[in-house]
Amino acid sequence: MPQATTKLNAFPVFMRVEGEAVAIVGGGEEALAKARLIAQSSAVLHIIAKNAEPELLDFIAEAGANHVARAYDASQIEGAVMVFAASGDEELDRRVAADAHRLGIPVNAVDRPDLCDFFTPALVNRAPVAIAIGTEGAGPVLAQMLRGRIDRMLSPSLGALAALAASFRNAAERLPRGNVRRRFWSDFFGGAPARAVEAGAFSQAREAAADLLLSDAAVRGHIALVGAGPGAEDLLTLRAHRLLMEADVIVHDALVPEAVVAMGRRDAERLPVGKRKGCHTKSQAEINALLVELGREGKRVVRLKSGDPLVFGRAGEEMAALRDAGIDYEVVPGVTAAFAAAADFELPLTLRGVSSSMVFTTGHDLKGNSLPDWAKLAISGATVAVYMGRSVAAEVAGRLIEAGLSPDTAVAVVENASLTNRRRFHGTLADLPSLEARTDLSGPVMTIIGDAVAGANFERSEPLAARRHESAPVVAAEGVQP
Ligand code: SAH
Repeated sequence: MPQATTKLNAFPVFMRVEGEAVAIVGGGEEALAKARLIAQSSAVLHIIAKNAEPELLDFIAEAGANHVARAYDASQIEGAVMVFAASGDEELDRRVAADAHRLGIPVNAVDRPDLCDFFTPALVNRAPVAIAIGTEGAGPVLAQMLRGRIDRMLSPSLGALAALAASFRNAAERLPRGNVRRRFWSDFFGGAPARAVEAGAFSQAREAAADLLLSDAAVRGHIALVGAGPGAEDLLTLRAHRLLMEADVIVHDALVPEAVVAMGRRDAERLPVGKRKGCHTKSQAEINALLVELGREGKRVVRLKSGDPLVFGRAGEEMAALRDAGIDYEVVPGVTAAFAAAADFELPLTLRGVSSSMVFTTGHDLKGNSLPDWAKLAISGATVAVYMGRSVAAEVAGRLIEAGLSPDTAVAVVENASLTNRRRFHGTLADLPSLEARTDLSGPVMTIIGDAVAGANFERSEPLAARRHESAPVVAAEGVQP
């Protein structure tokens, strides 16, 4: 396999071309492609082509380029800052390249890397912001694919935002260096000014930026309650990623994998606050107090929770504490475990004609005598996602069956949904109690119950009740209480 080195043989730079001459020698398709690329700049384009094809002629007229409709000679490229040999005629291209070398002008010869002083990039243009992608000619298709991906990631108004930023540069220089200035710019690019530019409200954006300049003198704390998703790093939202990159402090639960926490800003402080069964590091009240304290210190905090922060995440208590203390906060949704588990099973949570509602529950409210509301919904056909349901599996199954749900109702169980080490199990409600005895499952477990579950793909899952049929002493040996 060819070994990629870490050294670039072509180093990217941004060259000043405003008002400068750029010469393109050629009258066909190759010349047109280069002309289109260069026309994205404010260079003065000279196209040297005795016989230009009609499409190129149209382009010359449209772009207001200078057309030299004579046979090529070296005097025509004198004074240019870049030359393209794009005639499609090898002999002519070689001559152009040799002349350019003699005149000390950097040259690019189309499809002849050996003659090139420089390569042209695939370009994402959000002037004044430009993203140039180069592969040293190794993969023009790869470069175009990357270009497409990056282009979709960036707002069309990015250029306008960058231009606005440039007009605030001097004013921002008057802010103290470090935290305060960094905060101003991250609020500028991620907050109200950016949102106003996005909406096309430029004067509003200018005002919002001016407000930021004033308000930023006193550094204000901000807490983002961020959903980290079920565990796979690429299920994090772009917004969550941006906030992680801007964080001063990341306060995270034990269920959030290290790889996701590691996506935060390198010098952000990381505070694990635990809450994994058995190894409690901080009580909820202590976590609330910690968030308030960090907010008062003016820190930019990401409170990272697994899945979605508003689903069994105790976000209600944290938000109440922040509200009471008058600290700014926002909530960023995440992919909740039920959705990740359903995806892992190709399981339709709603299924036409079968189930049109779903319930998120824990099963921990089953202890009382009366049947909780969600059990009634299950019986009337809702798909039920049970969080933290492993230790109450028997209770959940027993109560649902007792209340009239068929023991044959389909059940899907996923451990470590979305992660490469996930395990999938399928069975019926009657099999569900066996889950409690499975000491081999150490990761988080999601259980989904309902007729819609029958529509899942069970090809890669194990039968849930396999161990139920093993001899009784095995279960007893695992120390499970009857
Ligand atoms: N806020 C989280 C839920 C926190 S409660 C969310 O929206 O997903 C913790 C429970 O979530 C676990 O007991 C388990 O039932 C479930 N869970 C979280 N991540 C999971 C995963 N990767 N796979 C399966 N279940 C998961």
